[in-house]
Amino acid sequence: MSDCIFCKIINKEIPSQIVYEDDEIIAFKDVNPQSPVHILVIPKEHIESLNDINSNHSDLIGNIFITIKNIAEELGIDEEGYRVVNNCGEFGGQTVSHIHFHILGGRKFSWPPG
Ligand code: IMP
Repeated sequence: MSDCIFCKIINKEIPSQIVYEDDEIIAFKDVNPQSPVHILVIPKEHIESLNDINSNHSDLIGNIFITIKNIAEELGIDEEGYRVVNNCGEFGGQTVSHIHFHILGGRKFSWPPG
């Protein structure tokens, strides 16, 4: 999608700090980190939000979560723990309309979120 900032990152039209990439997934550092480790994991397919996935995306979503686990291991936050967040829609706090999963780590988080 031409006006999507994350599609521009996928297409290398704007710079990002990529930590993982394969044919269907890319992961990069969040530009405004909320914790010492803050990575965004996204599919290369432009899917607007969690509301837009269906059974055709089962393998993709599974691979995203395996990628999240692998990145957490590589960044050394797996043993102390970390948080995975998907914000969906306005009330969920989604600001970029390209589905993405936040990996947040390197500090302790509270519950419930604000
Ligand atoms: P959301 O609020 O769940 O939609 O998360 C969007 C995230 O994208 C926020 O944490 C932003 O800091 C991040 N973000 C927005 N633009 C960029 C960028 O160009 N590079 C990296 N992260 C970005």
